[in-house]
Amino acid sequence: MLNQIKQQIERLKARGATYVDTRWYPVEETNSLLMWNGNLKDTSSSRESGLGVRVLYKGAWGFSASSDTSNLSALYDKAFDNARVAAERVTFPVRLAEKDAIEGKFESPLQVNPFEIPLTEKVSFLQQMDREMDKAGVTQRISTLSFTRKHLFFLDSEGSQIEKLITDVFVDLAVNGVDSEGGMHERKFKPPRRGMSRGWETIDPEYFKANAERIVRELNDTLKAELCPVEDRSVILLPGIMYLQTHETIGHALELDRILGYELAFAGGSFVTLDDFGKLRYGSEKLTVRADATLPNSPGSFGFDDDGVPAQDNLLIDKGILVGAITGRQMVEEANAKARRHIFEGSSGANRATSFYRVPIERMTNINIDPGEDGTLEDIIRGTERGIVLDGDRSWSIGSNREQFHFGTEAGWLVEDGAITRPVKNATYKGATIPFWNSLTAVGDHSTWEVCYVDNCGKGQPNQIMQLGHGVPVCRFDNVRIGE
Ligand SMILES: [Zn+2]
Repeated sequence: MLNQIKQQIERLKARGATYVDTRWYPVEETNSLLMWNGNLKDTSSSRESGLGVRVLYKGAWGFSASSDTSNLSALYDKAFDNARVAAERVTFPVRLAEKDAIEGKFESPLQVNPFEIPLTEKVSFLQQMDREMDKAGVTQRISTLSFTRKHLFFLDSEGSQIEKLITDVFVDLAVNGVDSEGGMHERKFKPPRRGMSRGWETIDPEYFKANAERIVRELNDTLKAELCPVEDRSVILLPGIMYLQTHETIGHALELDRILGYELAFAGGSFVTLDDFGKLRYGSEKLTVRADATLPNSPGSFGFDDDGVPAQDNLLIDKGILVGAITGRQMVEEANAKARRHIFEGSSGANRATSFYRVPIERMTNINIDPGEDGTLEDIIRGTERGIVLDGDRSWSIGSNREQFHFGTEAGWLVEDGAITRPVKNATYKGATIPFWNSLTAVGDHSTWEVCYVDNCGKGQPNQIMQLGHGVPVCRFDNVRIGE
């Protein structure tokens, strides 16, 4: 198959294509299970294979994909014809940033392949979790397991050949309850990534049991709590909400295709302009953010992106100043040309497609905040006069250019004179992105830093659901409006 792909790539080059690449998936598998109040509500499995071809001709892309690989010539010709038609109406000819020809292989680290675990063992884990959550105050208990495994080859006309085998495991636990006024509350556990691997071995029943007990206890505390006050306070965000704050108001805002206006119709744009790079004070000096695709245990790590660019660890915000973006080969060239200056050195290796039948676009890798020097969570609470500790995403609303946000959280605990006093319910906070990040006054040390994941980030038309990570510490922001 690889030889046939190489022959087709050469054939299109001979016809005048300036660039051709192929992603061939011998197999992509998914498996998911959902247990709801003790009933196995859903189990599903999928298995597919196929091939996607991108062709660049006179500055325009053509794409075609199919699960039927019996007539490769027709598939490659279709991609080429699409590019030829598109080339007649191209407004900004596509150029690709330079990269090296790479022969490489990436395997996500794992000890036990989840697709080799019998269904009975997976169901038994969910039953165990369900029993742990079946306690007073809980009206709904939901536990899910999902697994993905993809094996693919990337080849391009510049001589790259890359093989990837990527496996991921996702577990979610959630409990719901109703307060005395009929208000619904939820508490979830989406486990931060621990250890160095991504397989079935990451599911440690004792660890999940302890966290199931915790979310039931915290749900009951919330059900009995008074309403969150409406006032300005310091907010102390735990990783369980900090990851979403980072995702929505840094990650999405720094995708270069958004900045160039390509996602306006669906996912939205960005308040960031090309002029801002190297200048904009995005946050306080305590804020250093990186796109790090080299973490071993995160779904935002994949070895090489779908342009064939190796995984990198790049600064996005350096001590508060905006210095980088989430980029692929095409957008880097377009941004440099439109800005009439050399902002980006090359692709940051963040062009990704969900599968062989979608084209790659700029996607977050692991958008992480460096741990700081303000100690443990306890140290930060001790140094806070009037604050609130927040955790768990309950609702979110974000400006289409990511310029402002409003988040509701599952849990909140008021802080007075350096100590937690009581839980509150319906906790929310809101702000404008740049003033908010500039009000960052404490960043927790490595003991507070957790790699959280997002397994359902949506972007693109047609929609592409992507998985990624956020390594984030506990952070404190001052003078934030809460409760409305
Ligand atoms: Zn997203």
